[in-house]
Amino acid sequence: MTDHPAAHDVGVPYLETDLGRAVTPFSQRTTADGLRIVVEGVCPRCYGPTVTEYPYGMPGVGMKSPWPFRARAAHPAPDVLADEVHFCECGHPHPSLPPDAAFVGCGASWRLAAGAEAAADGGS
Ligand SMILES: [Zn+2]
Ligand SMILES: [Zn+2]
Repeated sequence: MTDHPAAHDVGVPYLETDLGRAVTPFSQRTTADGLRIVVEGVCPRCYGPTVTEYPYGMPGVGMKSPWPFRARAAHPAPDVLADEVHFCECGHPHPSLPPDAAFVGCGASWRLAAGAEAAADGGS
């Protein structure tokens, strides 16, 4: 049931690794000015808190990929959680962090498993 150690394991060595679909606590919110979407969660590898900001409907701001909702300004909030690949940005320089690392963290990347943010069942 509680498979999420809350403690940030800062001793995990840096490794660029794709975790695939991960189940980890993640949430998104829109900033007060409505210009950005902030995604907050816990890295499924090092359990560090990671926060990423995405410009809301503003193309060409250094994004890796074009926003699918660019033309849908009236749309409430895109499902950034499910659509984006997330990178660990816990901000802690993990051991072996290369100087040219794109993100300061443990190097993990992942997509959220479908419905992960709502998954709170301890079924079995
Ligand atoms: Zn991490
Ligand atoms: Zn970390």
